[in-house]
Amino acid sequence: MHVNRSLQECMRSDYGGPLPLSSGTRLIRKDQPGSAPEPLKVLCVASEVFPLVKTGGLADVTGALSKSLTRLGVETEILLPAYPVVLEKCRDAEWVGQMNLLGHMADLLKARHEGLDLILLRCPELYERGGGPYLDSSGNDHHDNWLRFAVLSLAGARLATEGLGAWRPDLVHLHDWQAALTACYLKAIDAPIPIVLTIHNLAFQGQFSAGTFWNLELPDRFSHMDVMEYYHDISYLKAGIQLADAVTTVSPTYAREILSDRSGMGMAGVLRSRRSVLSGILNGIDSSVWDPETDPSIPFNYSAGNIGPREMNRAAIERQFGLKQGPGPIVCVISRLTWQKGIDMLADMLPVFNEHGAKLIVLGDGGMDVVYPLLEQVRHHSGQIAVQIGYSEEAAHLLIAGSDILLQPSRFEPCGLTQLYALRYGAVPIVARTGGLAETVIDANEAAIASSAATGFHFHPGSKGDLHNALERAFNTHRQTAAWRQLQMRGMHTDFGWERSAAQYADLYRSLIGEKITSAVTEQ
Ligand code: ADP
Repeated sequence: MHVNRSLQECMRSDYGGPLPLSSGTRLIRKDQPGSAPEPLKVLCVASEVFPLVKTGGLADVTGALSKSLTRLGVETEILLPAYPVVLEKCRDAEWVGQMNLLGHMADLLKARHEGLDLILLRCPELYERGGGPYLDSSGNDHHDNWLRFAVLSLAGARLATEGLGAWRPDLVHLHDWQAALTACYLKAIDAPIPIVLTIHNLAFQGQFSAGTFWNLELPDRFSHMDVMEYYHDISYLKAGIQLADAVTTVSPTYAREILSDRSGMGMAGVLRSRRSVLSGILNGIDSSVWDPETDPSIPFNYSAGNIGPREMNRAAIERQFGLKQGPGPIVCVISRLTWQKGIDMLADMLPVFNEHGAKLIVLGDGGMDVVYPLLEQVRHHSGQIAVQIGYSEEAAHLLIAGSDILLQPSRFEPCGLTQLYALRYGAVPIVARTGGLAETVIDANEAAIASSAATGFHFHPGSKGDLHNALERAFNTHRQTAAWRQLQMRGMHTDFGWERSAAQYADLYRSLIGEKITSAVTEQ
């Protein structure tokens, strides 16, 4: 590894209390009149980034958003823990500095991977171990997640204020509770840098016992109810929501839903009090990774103009998953296996599958308790149901490229990405009418069919009866070849690329930076 001494000097400022930057020492970037505008510089802090490490949609978003922002003149650096899988993929990462974070010495490594600029936080005792980013190899939370992500967040705050060499961010963008404490470390010193927090799923709140607070080296005042205290515990996400300058979530519908006590998961009151800074920006998809015409992980490429080869992917699925061959619709589910995702409702749907000769494949990772009833059925319905437990990017691409239907029966869904991939690949989605699913799939009701707008089927979240109806409607439509083809084509022609959403983030960044400049100038 290359050692850069001058940067080592520059980054050495052991943290043991307030950040070593006096407040207000740096005014946010102002372009000189007549000079070409400098690109905006954004530091993203995240716990997963595709294609380096992924457990769900968060990784897809941090990776794809960053690439799209670059095309809009926004330079991003992503701060990410150096998990073993990350180090494996970034073998040529360069050592650029060291930080003492809550008593742990961490190295900073600079890497570039598939168009992404990364700062890897290497601290072997925190990030180099078995299991995944959040769970150990037995599926339990790592016992010290409070520390692992406080350290990540503190590193984010240090980079936001001190920069890395000549690189200094204009704004910091935090993703989910794992990065949310960056807002606390920055506000603790009144750092004049705007902070955006994106909530990808309100169900994950970074909730720890109240005593944890005293290990975080934050001012006592942050332990109170107006910042971190949360039902006698503390919540990192709550702290981020309270302190960020803007809070976004991943669809406008979810941004509205979480303001209600029913969907706010205990955080509705806090969110209502921050309503003026809360907005929803719909996720997009990385069209360079998810394109049926060029996707290297599917056996037969195809497009809306040449959909014939899709049939051969379908046959490949039947072979690979041991399903009976034949015209009955193939329904796939690709999901974390949890209650949120409604997987527990599937076993009761088998009669309607039988009736229509339909086949079901579930690819998922997570709670066996949720999937156990389904596994029981596999024994009785071999050739009709297949379950693959585990995470497989390749199997996910194949299923989306060959299944007739993608089912997403979530009880709630902030945005959902799989239905967007399905639309692009001509797998007609059946989705629960919630969050981003409701926004991105247009139900094939009479009006939508009459106006040629339908792209899939909706059902009421959590309702087995309505899920049954939606499956029945979809299976009946599947027999009408022309109507089915229309649904597929409309989905395939819908644009869910990141461009529009990335532009909304860029606008938000610019408005926050503008506000900071205005307030700094007014104060002078
Ligand atoms: P969430 O982030 O809540 O898990 P999303 O729909 O937003 O749900 O994103 C899930 C992402 O993870 C999608 O890219 C989906 O294809 C992928 N995914 C989920 N489970 C698996 C799995 N078992 N194997 C491969 N990819 C999966």
